[in-house]
Amino acid sequence: MLGAAVKKELVRILGNENVSFLREDLIAYSYDATAVAYPPDCVVFPSNAEEVSGVLKLAAREVFPVVPRGAGTGFTGGSLAVRAGVVMSFERMAGIKEIDASNLTAEVEPGVITGDFQDEVEAMGLFYPPDPTSVKVSTIGGNIAECAGGPRAIKYGVTRDYVLGLEVVLPTGELVFTGGKKTLKGVAGYDLTRLIVGSEGTLGVVTKAHLKLLPLPQAKKTMLARFSDIETAFAAVEAIIGEKVIPSTLEIIDDVTLDCMGETVIGRGGAALIIEVDGWREAVEKEGSIIRGLLSGAMEFRIAADKNEVKDIWNVRRSISPALSKIKPTKLNEDVVVPRGALVSFIKGVRDISKKRAVIIACFGHAGDGNIHVNVMVDKNDPVEFRNGTLAVEDIFSLAVGLGGTISGEHGVGITKAPYLGMELSADTIAVMKKIKDALDPAGILNPGKIFRESSPAPG
Ligand SMILES: Cc1cc2nc3c(=O)[nH]c(=O)nc-3n(C[C@H](O)[C@H](O)[C@H](O)COP(=O)(O)OP(=O)(O)OC[C@H]3O[C@@H](n4cnc5c(N)ncnc54)[C@H](O)[C@@H]3O)c2cc1C
Repeated sequence: MLGAAVKKELVRILGNENVSFLREDLIAYSYDATAVAYPPDCVVFPSNAEEVSGVLKLAAREVFPVVPRGAGTGFTGGSLAVRAGVVMSFERMAGIKEIDASNLTAEVEPGVITGDFQDEVEAMGLFYPPDPTSVKVSTIGGNIAECAGGPRAIKYGVTRDYVLGLEVVLPTGELVFTGGKKTLKGVAGYDLTRLIVGSEGTLGVVTKAHLKLLPLPQAKKTMLARFSDIETAFAAVEAIIGEKVIPSTLEIIDDVTLDCMGETVIGRGGAALIIEVDGWREAVEKEGSIIRGLLSGAMEFRIAADKNEVKDIWNVRRSISPALSKIKPTKLNEDVVVPRGALVSFIKGVRDISKKRAVIIACFGHAGDGNIHVNVMVDKNDPVEFRNGTLAVEDIFSLAVGLGGTISGEHGVGITKAPYLGMELSADTIAVMKKIKDALDPAGILNPGKIFRESSPAPG
């Protein structure tokens, strides 16, 4: 609980209209995509870095938690106020400050919706590739904090590859600048930008980002291939990469997921690949025909005829995550990654786990970079099924790490994966991370209870 003096000071720093103690706001800001709720004591809406700094200085002095929040689409509980305190939301810091077409850079505030930013740069013939499937809702600040990936990572990399520099308010309230603004190179001192990217809002609050842009590819081709089973689909992935063609997207959808989606433009049963190539028109034609040749044995292969068909295919892909709740109300959604060559062994292992634990598991995701979203579908009100689901998740992490992979490719650790971090990282590595956290946040006020194993109170 925040004391009266702290509440008064928050209002002084931010202004009455930018601080809310209303019950409806506390409820609205208590969720993310993990669907558990932790209501904060207060929600604040800063307009600039000075206000962010003022709140953090106050929090460090009076010792209360501050939890940065973008759009709340995170899958690991990163923006949840697990120890109550203040949720800091960035919808009033959502400006695109500059798009510099000659240096191919941009300066943006953290609350900008990534999809809006992409639309704006594309209108200028430019391109910001990071594209989490939540792109129409999630924010640049949240994407940076989670180092979001997405379907285009196979060719273009992830958010960290596009962050040149950051303005960051440390948990002690100091404003620092990391990296560069308009230069592609820069090795002066430690790479603090990379430290902040992916730190899940635990080491600093991003108040401005300097981003790298590319020229917008001249052409794009979207293809859809259907296979009798997922093993054949994975073999197709291998064949494409083996031919030294790197598509901009290589998404896979398994039979459980396709059946759950029902009658759609993609179809039911078997497995599907969504493949996109982009670049110069001639190159796209050439790559498209190589892929068509390689996939001649597919059950079905087609090239999207027009923009509407492309939109329809992506609408199905983007609605998978929410639609899975038709199978069971609780989705234990894990974004493990394995080396691409291990995908067939991985999926076989997942099937075995599904049988052993008697739970339905739906798989889809970014096959091109080995990042599969494994969704263990259970009902959390059924204690036996929920327990089996949790054990299945543990088995899946163990399988992924055993195959040389990771427990999280893009969703972060947050609260949901904190108990499993030790399956992948050694105690020494975790100790180094904790030392960094303690050095930057000695009072432990910025987004506490995340990443490292410690018990969070039960959701409210
Ligand atoms: C349907 C759906 C599809 C998705 N698809 C993908 C996908 O393809 N790829 C992918 O990577 N993710 C995906 N996600 C997960 C999620 O969208 C990403 O993790 C996204 O980056 C979160 O952004 P957000 O703005 O919603 O942040 P939030 O969920 O609000 O917060 C995420 C983290 O960022 C921190 N944070 C937010 N703003 C700041 C800031 N200014 N400074 C410091 N820390 C901050 C928070 O404290 C929290 O730890 C998907 C989610 C959904 C619901």
